[in-house]
Amino acid sequence: MSEEIFKKVVSHAKEYGFVFPSSEIYDGLGAVYDYGQNGVELKNNLRQYWWKSMVQMHENIVGLDAAIFMHPKTWKASGHIDGFSDPMIDNKDSKKRYRADNLLEDKITRYQKDGKTNKADELQAALDQALLDNDLLQLKSLIEQHEIACPISGTRNWTDVRQFNLMFATEMGAMAEDADKVYLRPETAQGIFVNFLNVQKTGRMKIPFGIAQTGKAFRNEIIARQFIMRMREFEQMEMQFFIRPGTQKEWYEYWKKMRMDWHTKLGFGSDLYRFHNHVKLAHYADAAVDIEFNYPFGFKEMEGIHSRTDFDLSKHQEFSGKKMQYFDADLDENGKAYGNYIPYVIETSIGLDRLFLATMCAAFKEEVIESAPAEDGTIKKDTRVVLKFPAILAPYKVAILPLLKKDGLPEVARKIMNDLKTDYNCFYEEKDAIGKRYRRQDALGTPFCITIDHESLENQTVTIRYRDTMVQERIEISKIREILTTEVSWSKLLA
Ligand code: ATP
Repeated sequence: MSEEIFKKVVSHAKEYGFVFPSSEIYDGLGAVYDYGQNGVELKNNLRQYWWKSMVQMHENIVGLDAAIFMHPKTWKASGHIDGFSDPMIDNKDSKKRYRADNLLEDKITRYQKDGKTNKADELQAALDQALLDNDLLQLKSLIEQHEIACPISGTRNWTDVRQFNLMFATEMGAMAEDADKVYLRPETAQGIFVNFLNVQKTGRMKIPFGIAQTGKAFRNEIIARQFIMRMREFEQMEMQFFIRPGTQKEWYEYWKKMRMDWHTKLGFGSDLYRFHNHVKLAHYADAAVDIEFNYPFGFKEMEGIHSRTDFDLSKHQEFSGKKMQYFDADLDENGKAYGNYIPYVIETSIGLDRLFLATMCAAFKEEVIESAPAEDGTIKKDTRVVLKFPAILAPYKVAILPLLKKDGLPEVARKIMNDLKTDYNCFYEEKDAIGKRYRRQDALGTPFCITIDHESLENQTVTIRYRDTMVQERIEISKIREILTTEVSWSKLLA
């Protein structure tokens, strides 16, 4: 995959109603995007894939939908008010702001591209150490030593490196003087932690158990890059798995494997994914790994799996004064109940937008197709763009296409559509030549097209056309449902 493919994916996403810049008529808003008529379907289906695999497939995992606003003490307890920041640096000439670590990472990539592997490794090690030590002076000095210039002004006239808190704040309450500062949540996880006891008690949950949640999160990213990869408003899908202290290593390994399997089941090829261990652990973690996806611009984090110890629950216990304990009646090897403890937590956290982007990139194919040889043997070449989504994830499962807009064909088509639309999202279209309509469905990733022609009136058959092979078959109308039941099924991904 290359940068050029990425450009094509981005413009395809816009042209075919998947993703639009937010408030585009006002020239957009930095790093905020809207999902269009087809994007929202794909996004909903991806979210459902996650939800079903977590909640429906696990008896011991339940869902939650916590509010975006939370008591401000939540963020004091979680460490976000004091610690959730990125190192930033400004170029005095262009007035542009950068993340200091990103500037250094870009330099490392450049060294690698130029074959200067030693220099790349050396800088990587120095960067890791500086981040580990939170050493802002060292970050600045690395930028100077490696002669990094601002891509806009081309100068090396930098400010010092400073920390910048990523949380958006707003005020709650109608009266300014009564106003209390509240934050837009920067992660969904804290909504789960503060509800730990509510869910555990009312659901009579026994450890180990999990709580899953999907929802919006907000981060005032210093610099937004690569389309929907780094947004200021995005969606997370997080699951916190509560376990007995001391069992975190085995559960961490368990969830690493579960999550990697979940990705590879999409069928895009396991070489597109890899694990990347964290060098700098977040303030709450005792082990952390990313699942990276090979985006057209390189391997980048799509999901994080973190062993969060009892950090969050202990902090909430400390700040709220409420006991965050669980009574474990199971017996240990000495026949004694494990008793009261604050559970440990393994977290899996994936960005829905990054998953969406990965899915678009992996599914996007440009294919050269050759016509059947003409009488003089000439073969015509043509290209088609096709999104090869797993059928269950496609925005539309089936397109219903009467060959002509007359002779009773639309009536038969409508009847088929009415029968299918309760179970499958169907697309209906009667305009344009059939070849053109097929191409449009390919571009949306619709796995099946059903064409109704004059023969359909005579013998109750239609043509089904398969997106990936472009094979067309004559089948009885009564067979359509049978094919969809087998091909468009969650069991293909979940079983
Ligand atoms: P990064 O290092 O790329 O900033 P992170 O390590 O801060 O990401 P986490 O806090 O672990 O990310 O969040 C979990 C997941 O949320 C990430 O794996 C990613 O998929 C998603 N995510 C985080 N920040 C953003 C963002 N600004 N835009 C889109 N998705 C995001």
